[in-house]
Amino acid sequence: MADGDQGSGAVCAIALGGNVGDVGAAFEGAIAQLATAAGITILARSPWYRTPPMGPPQPDFWNGCVLLRTTRSPEDLLTVLQTIEAAFGRQRHLRWGPRTLDLDLIFYGDRQLHTDELTLPHPGFRDRAFVLVPLADVAADWCDPASGQTVAQLRQALDCSQVVPVQRDRDPHPAPLNSN
Ligand code: AMP
Repeated sequence: MADGDQGSGAVCAIALGGNVGDVGAAFEGAIAQLATAAGITILARSPWYRTPPMGPPQPDFWNGCVLLRTTRSPEDLLTVLQTIEAAFGRQRHLRWGPRTLDLDLIFYGDRQLHTDELTLPHPGFRDRAFVLVPLADVAADWCDPASGQTVAQLRQALDCSQVVPVQRDRDPHPAPLNSN
């Protein structure tokens, strides 16, 4: 899989998360909106996983990753992601709080960037099993330009035991409260 940003656009990795309402429908809707946006082509998608929440007591999260190719700039792509989040009712109230849909830009080719609005690669992804497990499904060999490690190596370093595949026939929406 290419991880550069030459040629007909940059390959990018997007992490999806959510724990309010019909998260599976929100994920499908977000992918559909990305797929129809100008200058974006969906390349691959991971299975969805269920993960315990960070932060205050709240329902379990669903997480996944999408690979896409885009001719848009990193800033423009972030705006697209935030517009889609807003379309699915995302409101930014509580740090680490519940959300209908969270879309994070993990990689934009091998670009490294640090501005007020955008850090690339995404600053938190190396410590998050709920990002690395689905990311490894679609981009295991992708080399993180900041650490020099592949996604597979980063995932190997974490305890991923709490990131379990969603079973569509058994995992209802909204996700039930976990035991916290
Ligand atoms: P969150 O509430 O976790 O989705 O964080 C959103 C905020 O993080 C926004 O203000 C973005 O401008 C900022 N941000 C910085 N880097 C990234 C990134 N790589 N992907 C998504 N949001 C980012």
